[in-house]
Amino acid sequence: MRLKDKVVLVTGGSRGIGEAITRLFSQEGALVAFCGRDVERGERLAAELAQESGRATFYQCDVSDENDVARWVAEVVAENGRIDGVVNNAGVAPAGPLEDFDLGLWNATMATNVTSMFLVSRATIPHLRAAGGGSIINLGSTFGVVGAGGSVLYAMTKAAAISISKSLALELAPDQIRVNALCPGGTETPFLQDWMDATGDPEGTRAWLTDRHPLGRLGDPKEQAAAALFLMSDDSSYVTGHALLVDGGYTAQ
Ligand code: NDP
Repeated sequence: MRLKDKVVLVTGGSRGIGEAITRLFSQEGALVAFCGRDVERGERLAAELAQESGRATFYQCDVSDENDVARWVAEVVAENGRIDGVVNNAGVAPAGPLEDFDLGLWNATMATNVTSMFLVSRATIPHLRAAGGGSIINLGSTFGVVGAGGSVLYAMTKAAAISISKSLALELAPDQIRVNALCPGGTETPFLQDWMDATGDPEGTRAWLTDRHPLGRLGDPKEQAAAALFLMSDDSSYVTGHALLVDGGYTAQ
């Protein structure tokens, strides 16, 4: 029960890595307020966790929409009275050569992956401060640390997530609000499958990607959730402004 009675927001908490985080945080005693756009998927997970005596509530919210984010945060505070932690997890990953991207895709990807971190952080910081401190986790990626041909736009957004985490950590340290980036390597989620499909050669891309991970396999979402639990809990009370790579050795090469 390392998060007992902590109120934690998780964006994109109904699928993939976010779902694993919602499940684990709820098992560890947190009141998890998770969001996504797909209501059916979110409510299905909330109902399942309620049966396991977890306390997780789904909210429909598009994190790229300023009004949606403001409404979601206000509802969570009205229902729970406080916020202790935030996981900015929602993200999308268009693939393909840069010269093929149109401006609409560029702006939409920036909005979901980067602007969302600004909107959710801005809305929650006053509540984290009022709670006496807290933890913000931003999902980066190995692709935010090393280059990724064919994923220039996505990689740039993940580098931004790491940069936001470092600068915001400095800005919020006096308030005892810790900010860190969690940077997964290839992790088995629907998102990864979509990204592999978008390259036009999913099997070849899977083999290439697996080969790039020295541990010889892709990651499990539960392995990312375990690292998120460390960053959210008091186990990491002296860790801030850090980018934690959970990547099977991808970036050690
Ligand atoms: P998934 O696509 O499996 O899940 C993404 C979640 O985000 C879904 O719950 C989706 O729900 C939600 N989401 C997407 N867009 C929005 C939006 N605009 N507003 C609200 N919710 C949204 O992704 P992963 O679990 O694989 O990835 C999670 C994070 O981890 C991402 O930031 C990604 O960049 C990062 N990451 C993933 C890696 C991997 O290999 N899987 C590797 C490195 C980093 P809904 O559709 O209902 O909105």
